[in-house]
Amino acid sequence: MKWDAAAEKAQEMLAIPPIMAPYARLQSEKIARHKKLDRVTAGVVKETAQVYRDFMGKEKSEELTAFLEGKGPAPAMEDELFFSDENALYNIDLCFTKYGENTRGVRDILKDMMKSVIAVCEEEHVTELMADRAPVALHGASRFSIGMTGCPNCCVSPYMKDFGIIMQHRVDITKAECVQCGECLKMCFEKAVTLTEKGPVIDRKQCVMCELCARDCPTGTLITGARGFKVVAGGSGARNPRISATIEEFTSKERVLAILRNAIAALRKAPLGESLKAIVEREPLRKGNSMEKAEITLTFDLNNKRDQKVYEGIMNLTKYFDGNLSEAFMQFFDRMVYTIAECETRMQKCENLLIQVADQYVGKKEGHA
Ligand code: SF4
Ligand code: SF4
Repeated sequence: MKWDAAAEKAQEMLAIPPIMAPYARLQSEKIARHKKLDRVTAGVVKETAQVYRDFMGKEKSEELTAFLEGKGPAPAMEDELFFSDENALYNIDLCFTKYGENTRGVRDILKDMMKSVIAVCEEEHVTELMADRAPVALHGASRFSIGMTGCPNCCVSPYMKDFGIIMQHRVDITKAECVQCGECLKMCFEKAVTLTEKGPVIDRKQCVMCELCARDCPTGTLITGARGFKVVAGGSGARNPRISATIEEFTSKERVLAILRNAIAALRKAPLGESLKAIVEREPLRKGNSMEKAEITLTFDLNNKRDQKVYEGIMNLTKYFDGNLSEAFMQFFDRMVYTIAECETRMQKCENLLIQVADQYVGKKEGHA
């Protein structure tokens, strides 16, 4: 398709990570085709800019715009997000986040995860393990493959790796009034959001925790809350392709690393030739974790309104675990390990988190969530 000179110039100035540039050209041509134009015009590129702005969210778009206008740094391709070690028989493949996609907060979490995963692989001597398990001369496919992504879009599929770590971003509904603009509906490809007169409702069973609906909610009715990880294992893109099994959803960094250690230990024990997928199907990888649940004691004054809310929130959690309160606590604190990472005191964060859960519960009773 032909391009006007002004369109070419505008396309070069799109606020997108460089890796997206070829796709953005196709996007402009698609818009032109749908408008039955025989060329891409500057007006078409303006629409492309809006499409990418919606997709990447305000924070990322502003970061890139500042760079293009000479007011901010270039979107960095940070070394810590690239894994390259020719002496290792494991490989860590990170999604397009390594090329500057995703926000700084997400990139920082993945940098930390990358460092920790490498440390586990080294401590567990994965290189020697994979060398010993290889049936033929060592080569690229002898490596233990790990895939990591910054969101559930999974541009690089962790589902075809031995071990996959997928970031999840839970969206919370706040008390801020919804102005019914429909932005969240537009961005939810799972159709998990519906709008009622009282505001948005999220179908948590459909929601894949991508946070797209919350990124640009103008009122703050939808916000990104806690972040966690989905862990998958046993996939392969090799001779006998297999899709991995889900081990755990929305879990903490500590749990991810504990499950990774379990997977490596299971592989070490398994007969030569047995795949991780077969192991995953035979025995769960979830056992043996380093949870900090037992350290938390809660005391409630049920005459105090806030304590009441917290207490109700905990009771509400039990519904999801067949009334088994200790299982509810285990699941709850499992997530907390991740959430407390930046907090000043464990107890303070514990209370804050419980209050959030309680608020959601109270919202639910009033029909808000
Ligand atoms: S929740 Fe936010 S994005 Fe969705 S309709 Fe309401 S104001 Fe708009
Ligand atoms: S976070 Fe959930 S509800 Fe929001 S856009 Fe993603 S899938 Fe839809």
